[in-house]
Amino acid sequence: MAKKCRVNENCIGCGLCEGTCPSVFELVDGTAQAKMEEIPEDLEAEVEDAAASCPVQAIEVE
Ligand code: SF4
Repeated sequence: MAKKCRVNENCIGCGLCEGTCPSVFELVDGTAQAKMEEIPEDLEAEVEDAAASCPVQAIEVE
């Protein structure tokens, strides 16, 4: 089953995730949003990287 991701309220809008995985994350009005909930398999590694690099653990992957 595809993994899912969301950005929670901890996001401080640093933009790191958008740089790491622009296919999934974008900054909107100063905070990051996931453009999709279900992560395509070929983007899973990038999303995991983005989640691990987020300075405030705002990216939840499950
Ligand atoms: Fe927000 Fe984390 Fe992305 Fe920075 S890396 S924009 S804090 S979700």
